[in-house]
Amino acid sequence: MDFPKRFAVIVIGGGHAGTEAALAAARMGVETLLLTHNIETLGQMSCNPAIGGIGKSHLVREIDALGGAMARATDRAGIQFRVLNARKGPAVRATRAQADRILYKAAIREMLENQPHLTIFQQAVDDLIVEQGRCVGAVTHMGLRFQADAVVLTAGTFLGGRIHIGLENHSGGRAGDPPSIALAQRLRELPFRVDRLKTGTPPRIDGKSVDFSVMEEQWGDTPTPVMSYLGRVEEHPRQTCCYITHTNEQTHDIIRSGFDRSPMFTGVIEGVGPRYCPSIEDKVNRYPDKNTHQIFVEPEGLTTHELYPNGISTSLPFDVQLAAVRSIRGFEQAHITRPGYAIEYDFFNPQDLKHSLETKHMPGLFFAGQINGTTGYEEAGAQGLLAGINAALLAQDKDAWYPQRDEAYLGVLVDDLITLGTREPYRMFTSRAEYRLLLREDNADLRLTEKGRALGLVDDERWAAYCAKRDGAEREAARLRATWVRPGSARSAEVNALLDTDLTHEYTLMDLLKRPEVTYGPLLDAAGLAPEMPAIAEQVEILAKYAGYIDRQADEVAKLRAAENTLLPEDMDYGQVNGLSNEVRQKLDSARPATLGQAGRIPGVTPAAISLLLIHLKKQG
Ligand code: FAD
Repeated sequence: MDFPKRFAVIVIGGGHAGTEAALAAARMGVETLLLTHNIETLGQMSCNPAIGGIGKSHLVREIDALGGAMARATDRAGIQFRVLNARKGPAVRATRAQADRILYKAAIREMLENQPHLTIFQQAVDDLIVEQGRCVGAVTHMGLRFQADAVVLTAGTFLGGRIHIGLENHSGGRAGDPPSIALAQRLRELPFRVDRLKTGTPPRIDGKSVDFSVMEEQWGDTPTPVMSYLGRVEEHPRQTCCYITHTNEQTHDIIRSGFDRSPMFTGVIEGVGPRYCPSIEDKVNRYPDKNTHQIFVEPEGLTTHELYPNGISTSLPFDVQLAAVRSIRGFEQAHITRPGYAIEYDFFNPQDLKHSLETKHMPGLFFAGQINGTTGYEEAGAQGLLAGINAALLAQDKDAWYPQRDEAYLGVLVDDLITLGTREPYRMFTSRAEYRLLLREDNADLRLTEKGRALGLVDDERWAAYCAKRDGAEREAARLRATWVRPGSARSAEVNALLDTDLTHEYTLMDLLKRPEVTYGPLLDAAGLAPEMPAIAEQVEILAKYAGYIDRQADEVAKLRAAENTLLPEDMDYGQVNGLSNEVRQKLDSARPATLGQAGRIPGVTPAAISLLLIHLKKQG
């Protein structure tokens, strides 16, 4: 049967990619349908109950700057907030929140249910409707046919999902959920390059059976950070403590004793796992000299005793898991509530996508999230948002939009996936971005909210908050530039005391703020001025202290953009270009691009390599 209503956009899957995709398309005012297996699992955190962290919080803030849900849900669900790298430069500072997974899901569901232009329907999708090579809808398990202008697929780990615990394995999308077999088969008939990846999760532990007194406590930061640009500390639920414990030699011996029944070491699992989130058996195997590994013991929520032992993801047999867990300090009597497991699933080579996340082989069909070879809620949410935007743009007959590498981590993520592809689950790091100082978590709104407003993604409340911050920061910078402190003036004694030296001539407050030992609050206090709100103060302080570096990166970006049409000599000898990796050299040699712009679009030729080419061309005169 054909469903009586036609939609502009259909999103398949209600995980982190799917919910952001559906919300984005609906915010843009097009009629959107979210089709998912189970309404109860909308926004479910399949693995660790945490959002953010280094590189990842940058994505969360970008989603937020474009009006998305993840940061707002985190503020309502976060039970411990910390700023990582707080003492390092602003480029690598990152907010991380431990979330109550029940509150997180509830927050996402509430946003979905209250979103105008969004319809939710619970049913597995088994097939796509394809007409003249275009994807124009989806067919559910009971044969319902939904028609649309664009379809966004966000099936996560569910496509051909296979769960492994020791040498036992069975089909599943994640523990407790069915896999998507029919849809996976259908997609394998289409001209997409499909491969297998794997990821894993640790056993969960009943907190009532744990001795916390022998573990190290880890509380969140004070003052408590927020995740969203609109976030308020008062929105946070009660804050709680995490703990730290460690594996030991005995744990490692037990783990080694299970290697012969490990699906990873016996070749049962073929998919490649996440390099930066390895299983405990992988760590013990790879680092035989390390006799201990840290475990963060994280509460799963405020209304449950279940704990997430972060750092011991495993697919070893259950008897080995139990013995290994009980060899750990504080876990001697531990009761495992859910065994750890690994899951293998289908993913599609992201090189078959356009930057808009529309598939090259089938117009109208977009892929986002784990199915593109990424891992993590934040990476999935960011892609979902972008795919939702572009599906809505397609439905409105408008040009696609995606940010560049110098505009957003979202730009870096998509460009990396599309140009380089991936052979292992891809996660975001700040080191993946060439222009880290421009792409900070504190300024995602300044980078993206205007674009979001133009696209129809940003509501009036967010727009007003953004304008207040943008204008406030400009006004405050002007005030500090215009305020002079002169030796012997009324305030000079306070300023001298702050600087721990006497001013020898006059300075503006902006000049003084550039000094490494001077911070905004005490400086304004000494100068007798009322401080601005923290978000504005932070911008002004970063701009004062890092202006030189920020300007240099901005110049580099401008030069690269201007160099787009610079000609490369036909007989260019790439062997003579200093600093190019062999891999890049070979790629340039075989592609022989005519311009720097073309060179930059060759998969694997990074902006850093383009800068080297530019320097080389200049030297040649
Ligand atoms: P998901 O969150 O998996 O959502 C997929 C959605 O699609 C679900 O709602 C599902 O019901 C729905 N769906 C699927 N098929 C259909 C269909 N045919 N019809 C209708 N609906 C469908 N990330 C980390 O960062 N670190 C980790 O250590 C980590 N470990 C993980 C361990 C396990 C066991 C699992 C399962 C995931 C792990 N992840 C980890 C990954 C993290 O959960 C994902 O990256 C993230 O959830 C991906 O979001 P997504 O929206 O792409 O997919």
